[in-house]
Amino acid sequence: MGKAYRAERVFLRDESFGLSGSAGFIEALKTKSQQRSESSASISSAPDESQTAAQLIRQARGILVICHIMPDGDAIGSLLGLAWALHKLGKEHTLACADPVPDSFVYLPGSEDIVSYPEGNYDLVISLDCSDLKRLGVAYDQNSLRGVPIINIDHHVTNVGFGSVNWVDPNSAATAQMVLTLIERLGVPLDPTIATCLLNGIVTDTRGFRTPNTTPAVMEAATRLMMAGASMSEITQQVFNRRPLAVVRLWGRALSAVQLDDRIIWTEINQAMKHECGFSSDSGDGLVGFLTSACEADVGIVFTEKDNGTIDVSIRSMPGIDISNVAMRLGGGGHPQAAGCNLNSSLAEARERVLAELRRSLLEQAAAININ
Ligand code: AMP
Ligand code: MN
Ligand code: MN
Repeated sequence: MGKAYRAERVFLRDESFGLSGSAGFIEALKTKSQQRSESSASISSAPDESQTAAQLIRQARGILVICHIMPDGDAIGSLLGLAWALHKLGKEHTLACADPVPDSFVYLPGSEDIVSYPEGNYDLVISLDCSDLKRLGVAYDQNSLRGVPIINIDHHVTNVGFGSVNWVDPNSAATAQMVLTLIERLGVPLDPTIATCLLNGIVTDTRGFRTPNTTPAVMEAATRLMMAGASMSEITQQVFNRRPLAVVRLWGRALSAVQLDDRIIWTEINQAMKHECGFSSDSGDGLVGFLTSACEADVGIVFTEKDNGTIDVSIRSMPGIDISNVAMRLGGGGHPQAAGCNLNSSLAEARERVLAELRRSLLEQAAAININ
């Protein structure tokens, strides 16, 4: 049941954002690029949407590239990797993200150029690693960008298909892997800068090549990026091996209050804990992955009270348990084993809602296994 539902959502186009003006053009372009890809033997494994995306980029004069709010390593790595390729193509572009670049990704070249409120005239928007328009946050201004085509490049199974072109590939381990294909389609040669940004995306979204979607194709993409000059050891050092003391202290506080019930493990981070530990960011920063490593648990959750008072919910599960549908029902999204949502409630209310929804989903999934 879950599968059919998801397949339907991925390609569902949300018409409510006034993009229909560009639809005829986009459809024509799709047909054209399909004809071209049928007659061409090169890079035939990627879907046609990548051809359409490359074609639109070649024609564009001012491009706005945006990634999702509370950016992670894939969002920032994809944004910067594509930006350096656009730079090589001589394309005018602006990089935007509603929230600041987390400390661990500031080392990536160009991170200082990312703005929250882009200003300029754009004839193309590229959305990266983002499953719905709402998650672009303030970086996407619906009024000034009305009618401007959006290329939606993403790998979330919960992507709602909000773009004029929707290149959504849940089989890709990271959006950065798709951006690598796009850059190759654009004919831009890789260099150490582009390669570092993209490998940063792949390494972080696979948690260091440990997720079940780490296929030979992912390793092959990573190899190509290393051969182009990216340093795997530098990236892993930056993103996994070092963190501020405040984070270590916060983990300590959160881990000492951990709860386990029926193979679900969770903990909470409130504002007071953040202040006491000197932690200034909104992100749980990898804690949920560590929590879910407990052998007694199949699902892990971290509830974090954000500075704006809403609750960020980060969920992880063992392979075989799909938590993306739970996140989606709660207004969020994600991947089968890594998903999240944001709730406008107290920490206690968020906990009760998420646990109830999760337990219901786990029962449904267990029942589906028994039926089959
Ligand atoms: P996180 O737990 O924040 O690392 O997120 C895990 C996955 O779920 C990532 O792929 C996020 O993009 C996605 N995700 C997290 N929160 C949301 C949300 N509120 N809406 C949609 N997707 C989300
Ligand atoms: Mn992401
Ligand atoms: Mn991603």
